[in-house]
Amino acid sequence: MKILVINAGSSSVKFTLYESEGEHMLAKGLIERINSANTSLKYANHRGEKLEKDISANSYEAAISAACLALVDKSMGVINNLFEIEGIGHRVVHGGPDVYGSAIITTEIKQTIMDCFALAPLHNPPNYEGIEACAHLFANVPMVAVFDTAFHQTMPPAAYTYALPTEIAAKNQIRRYGFHGTSHHYVALAAAQTLGRALDEVRLITAHLGNGCSITAVNKGRVEDTSMGMTPLEGLVMGTRCGDIDPAIVLMLRNAGYSLSDVDKILNKSSGLLGLAGIGSNDMRDILQAIAAGNNAAQMALDVFVHRLVKYVGAYAAIMNGFDALVFTAGIGENVPVLRARVCEKLAFMGVKLDRALNKSNALRISQEGTAPAVLVVPTNEELMIVRETARLLE
Ligand code: ADP
Repeated sequence: MKILVINAGSSSVKFTLYESEGEHMLAKGLIERINSANTSLKYANHRGEKLEKDISANSYEAAISAACLALVDKSMGVINNLFEIEGIGHRVVHGGPDVYGSAIITTEIKQTIMDCFALAPLHNPPNYEGIEACAHLFANVPMVAVFDTAFHQTMPPAAYTYALPTEIAAKNQIRRYGFHGTSHHYVALAAAQTLGRALDEVRLITAHLGNGCSITAVNKGRVEDTSMGMTPLEGLVMGTRCGDIDPAIVLMLRNAGYSLSDVDKILNKSSGLLGLAGIGSNDMRDILQAIAAGNNAAQMALDVFVHRLVKYVGAYAAIMNGFDALVFTAGIGENVPVLRARVCEKLAFMGVKLDRALNKSNALRISQEGTAPAVLVVPTNEELMIVRETARLLE
């Protein structure tokens, strides 16, 4: 079954076309700066042919139309016509408190997605626009929503409840939801497979370390806890987000004269690696380069990042009575041996033993043979997880 995956962001659309049988990626692309003077399309097919050009697209529908033109293009395309597409899977960030899994898109599901606009104001509205655009362009093709929050819905109440007055929390839908669920689910499944065991037999700690960072305790297939909370601001140190801070800092900043929008910007856009390293970049490659050049602030940024990460691993080991594998994924998790080495050094007391050479080469299993817990590096693939979920629901 040919399945189109759509990830519609605030001004961009990522698209991927898969043949679900055998899980072959046929083509993928990105349309950026929709509704601006310089909208661009990047596209690559499985034959390695690439295309990059300026296009005009003043709506999500126009952007997805441009994607479709690339997919059916005579020379660069991978399908003869759009009727070959039998299902569309949409990444949706927030499903709210009642969505426990992926769902075929119906009027009710669309309403659920809209009901979560306030919970994910930057993500759910464009996700919804992507769905509406596809509904117009592909009139009779069934569509599936795959929610970032769904995997975390198995979290127990003790983990998702903030210690706030119950009434105030309920009235304002305040609880922890967790994000990156599709990625954590994908790498957890892959990790269990690597260990040669079923997901419901193993205790995993999955660390998704990209621009956004989150870590999840996956206890026998169920999420025991995850670091992102009501919003993706909580938890680990990230590229530009602060992660955990004393909430009173917000009050203090307000007292010091910062407006609500200033504080929002400080915590979400100017903090994390960017704010700590002070080199004008939140890119881990730049931070590592600055460290190599002797920059102390960049070193501190990495130190704080590692410290927080180790703290979470320890906490999650405690709530699961130990763990069978620690899994690193996403841009930083997959590509920074020095960071993994520093985390694992701290975990030596729990039996973690890294193989230096395997770690350096970003191998799948980087712990020494025969040691436990295992340490794995699993490249994430959220698109493939969406394909699997779409195929499962449509078949
Ligand atoms: P996103 O959350 O936007 O999907 P990614 O998973 O692509 O982010 O991760 C982005 C982060 O990964 C950046 O900090 C980037 O520097 C880092 N990264 C990607 N590749 C490498 C690499 N080869 N070496 C070091 N860091 C890398």
